[in-house]
Amino acid sequence: MADVFDLIVLGGGPAGYVAAIRAAQLGLGVACIDGGVGSDGKPSLGGTCLNVGCIPSKALLESSEHFHRCKAELKDHGVTTGDVRIDVPAMIARKNKIVRGLASGVSTLFAKNKVVSFAGKGRLLPGMRVEVSPLAGGPVETIEAKNILIATGSLPRDIDHVPTDGTIVVDSSGALDFTAAPEKLGVIGAGVIGLELGSVWHRLGSQVVLLEAMETFLPGADEQIADTAFKEMSRQGLDIRLGARVLSAKIGKIGKDGKDGVQVSYENSEGKHSIEFSKLVVAVGRKPNTQGLDVNEVGLLLDERGNVHVDEFCKTNLPNIYAVGDVVRGPMLAHKASEEGIMVVERIAGEQTRVNYDAIPWVIYTSPEIAWVGKTERQLRASARDYKVGVFPLSANGRARAMGHTVGLTKVLADKKSDRLLGVHIMAPMASEMIAEAVLAMEFGASAEDLQRTIHAHPSLSETTHEAALAADGRTLNFHG
Ligand SMILES: Cc1cc2nc3c(=O)[nH]c(=O)nc-3n(C[C@H](O)[C@H](O)[C@H](O)COP(=O)(O)OP(=O)(O)OC[C@H]3O[C@@H](n4cnc5c(N)ncnc54)[C@H](O)[C@@H]3O)c2cc1C
Repeated sequence: MADVFDLIVLGGGPAGYVAAIRAAQLGLGVACIDGGVGSDGKPSLGGTCLNVGCIPSKALLESSEHFHRCKAELKDHGVTTGDVRIDVPAMIARKNKIVRGLASGVSTLFAKNKVVSFAGKGRLLPGMRVEVSPLAGGPVETIEAKNILIATGSLPRDIDHVPTDGTIVVDSSGALDFTAAPEKLGVIGAGVIGLELGSVWHRLGSQVVLLEAMETFLPGADEQIADTAFKEMSRQGLDIRLGARVLSAKIGKIGKDGKDGVQVSYENSEGKHSIEFSKLVVAVGRKPNTQGLDVNEVGLLLDERGNVHVDEFCKTNLPNIYAVGDVVRGPMLAHKASEEGIMVVERIAGEQTRVNYDAIPWVIYTSPEIAWVGKTERQLRASARDYKVGVFPLSANGRARAMGHTVGLTKVLADKKSDRLLGVHIMAPMASEMIAEAVLAMEFGASAEDLQRTIHAHPSLSETTHEAALAADGRTLNFHG
């Protein structure tokens, strides 16, 4: 008979590995089963985030940003460069090294915290048991636990009529491993992933066209920021076509010289169109991954979107079985996944932890970055709540001018009567770092006045948050230029 653990975690992404480590630190006997493999085909902990998501995409964004700066921006600073070139295989090798380092860091943390790690696929069995099929082959094992945490994450969503072949038509993972910048790159989906990957290859020289079925650009973001971002990204050269529904994609020879590529047909309000690309990325979102879990055999309830159904504490319909991260409702974000994992294991250990779903930051790592927390103005208008708004443009901020990055703004939304912060929206370089202040403020139930009275270093981009909070009360102090 197998070992009986206090907790089996199924999945070693940011939801699962963080939960496993925290649970072990709380004194629980923990096993984590993860079926992820790295680009070398070997087991690799860290899930989508570490292997084909947050980290590799940010590594490529950083490299491509350096290249772009050298080519397009340094001359404004009086810096002369020679012939600037990009070595794509070297860039990809750097990305792979970062991924390997972080994934092996998770293995080290597992060993240090005595989490028993299984490299294999897990399948739920009745009676709080999990069957493990090792990735390396060999006999199947059954382990048992008092609690089970499902953290099996998500998979790229595909479109039936646009099958991927892994070379010409790829998903987001494939777009992290191109060996050269495609001459003409098509991206289906102008959401977060499409924009980030489109930006990478555009900076490296690809002509990029994004085909987005929705008429609205970034509908989850604040309207004013989405409008500014659309203009700025179009100015940078991204060709974003809204209301464009892709009808088919045919892989074959394209152009006069008959190179390998794909012919895409799409439809918009003006009719049907055909366009050729050297590569095509399908980035139409992600779907919860319950593949191979055998949810029916154990009676695990899914919702209408295929997510594992959970309550606010991530309890499923089955006693002592929990689910967290991308496989459940809510934003598909690594930090949300980790917080849910921590909540579950702390509650198993008797603590009263909860996740504040109203204070989860969102970030799009374009240039400039876009970040927000809390409600958008559109949501506040729809809720008929009495709110006030303060906006401060980057062009009036001394640090932004010194950096030469003046496109963007910070917007603060607060309750008109109580002054409580309701949302903060930023479009600026490093908005991903700037938003942390707003998240903390919202976590503490701060008011716009709290932001006004917080001393911000001068000159800094975060002064725009201070100024926007003042502007919400009509008290902009001009700029310190
Ligand atoms: C290109 C890209 C960029 C992204 N950038 C960001 C970003 O900048 N910031 C951000 O917050 N989020 C980002 N995300 C989203 C983020 O990666 C996910 O929200 C996050 O990884 C979810 O964590 P998770 O642990 O729930 O699932 P995952 O990370 O998907 O991990 C699930 C793990 O479970 C394993 N597994 C699945 N089924 C089984 C099974 N039956 N048995 C054993 N193991 C199993 C999988 O192999 C995987 O290792 C990005 C995603 C992509 C694709």
